[in-house]
Amino acid sequence: MARCGQKPGKGRYVCINCGEDLYLDDATDTLPPCAKCNRCDFRRG
Ligand SMILES: [Zn+2]
Repeated sequence: MARCGQKPGKGRYVCINCGEDLYLDDATDTLPPCAKCNRCDFRRG
């Protein structure tokens, strides 16, 4: 599990709520809220 505002590292993250995915391509990137539903909970994809 990862939450927005964290820096969980490179990789694909999938919104727990709606399934939208996003990629972080740098270890210093901050996980944003979901672009679709604005929720804050993700799992590693
Ligand atoms: Zn979502």
